[in-house]
Amino acid sequence: MASASRLLYLLPLALIAAGLMMHLQQSMPSAVSAENVLDELERLREREDLNVLFLLVDTLRADRLSAYGYPRPTSPTIDALARTGIRFAQHTSQSSWTKASMASLWTSTYPVATGILRFDDALPDAARMPAEILKARGLQTAGIWRNGWVAPNFGFAQGFSVYHKPSFGAVKTAHRRNTPTSRIAGSDQDITDSAIEFIRVEGHRPWLLYLHYMDVHQYLSDETSALFGTTYSDIYDNSIHWVDRQIQALLSALDEAGLRDRTIVVLVADHGEAFSEHDTEGHAKDLYGEVIETPFVVHLPFDLEPGAVVESASSNVDVWPTIFDLLGEAAPEERDGRSLVPDVLAALRSEAPRETEPVFAHLDRSWGRVGIEPRWIIAATDPPYRLIFHPDGKQKNELYDLAADPLERENRYEAEPETAARLERSARDYAARSRSSWALEKKTIELDDMLMGQLRAIGYAIE
Ligand SMILES: [Zn+2]
Repeated sequence: MASASRLLYLLPLALIAAGLMMHLQQSMPSAVSAENVLDELERLREREDLNVLFLLVDTLRADRLSAYGYPRPTSPTIDALARTGIRFAQHTSQSSWTKASMASLWTSTYPVATGILRFDDALPDAARMPAEILKARGLQTAGIWRNGWVAPNFGFAQGFSVYHKPSFGAVKTAHRRNTPTSRIAGSDQDITDSAIEFIRVEGHRPWLLYLHYMDVHQYLSDETSALFGTTYSDIYDNSIHWVDRQIQALLSALDEAGLRDRTIVVLVADHGEAFSEHDTEGHAKDLYGEVIETPFVVHLPFDLEPGAVVESASSNVDVWPTIFDLLGEAAPEERDGRSLVPDVLAALRSEAPRETEPVFAHLDRSWGRVGIEPRWIIAATDPPYRLIFHPDGKQKNELYDLAADPLERENRYEAEPETAARLERSARDYAARSRSSWALEKKTIELDDMLMGQLRAIGYAIE
């Protein structure tokens, strides 16, 4: 039996241990089980110290990430975020072209309602952007980008106190796809360096930090990430590994600053990339799965054990309503997207995914050509089906059963007339919709030579 004096001797040690435990809980993300997650989400909504790290990886297809089933280990960092966070398994972007897609992502509104479909369209000042809403909440707002389609001219800087294209440093050993016309200076290392500097200097006050990574678009990697071979498709995988390392460096900086338990990390993409699956390469040409099936991963300020996988269909217009819901912030009333938090809770309780409406992707295939009539193409996805709809009737519509035929090889349009007719009605209704009230006044800009040069440099043929 321990004597009283011995207990007194042990007491200070116990207090030190308890203090240490508390400290560890404050600085490390703690694990939350499915039963407790509702309480933890409620608590998040009351917090005023939360940051949002918004990672946009340009041109990243979901199916090239190990977290989405790819056999190559391209993405260990993103996989770890998904494993202890939330992965949306059937997610699509709103277009296969950066500007149309980003306008929808930021405004939670479909392209038909943003009106951002052609090379000279710009978001009007009346658009209510997440950075404006979060700035009004008191967050610092910073965006760091390398893609000219999200330049301030096109209205994407609204709400950002800092909207910065980083100056560029040398990449030690750059491995690139051999297309000299499609180079932009520097690498995503420049974005990571700027972001880490931001976290170091400003990180203590709540922030939104938007990083628009570009090296997957550029097929760039360094020597240590060039693991998977030398075909275009291999080099694309190498660049994913390279950008995954950038994200790893960034998360390490967050850990060092003790900010992981104050930060919601979001990973999304604006579109994918084609490797001749449907006779095209690149993107911004059509709307098959390889160019619109993109990742959406959220990591909360704590680890989920186990992580959640949401199987109901979602798309980029849902991203910001979901983040606003997590933050306890109201999303703009006029929107197409919805919060996916109920879907996350259903997934954690192993309930069936809820019934969803078709989600739409949209491209004007003549977006880059002056004086040419619009040539719309609309994809209506309602798993397991996707309709590719040509409103001008000049091409045959296509219907795919994504469960039986994920590569979209067999057109079922004639074979399944009821499903085809149902989705075609949805797509027609979509095409006939009017703009959002903020988008009624059309805004276009004159592209100056410098911007034209930048856009041509990333491989867009603007005629
Ligand atoms: Zn893009």
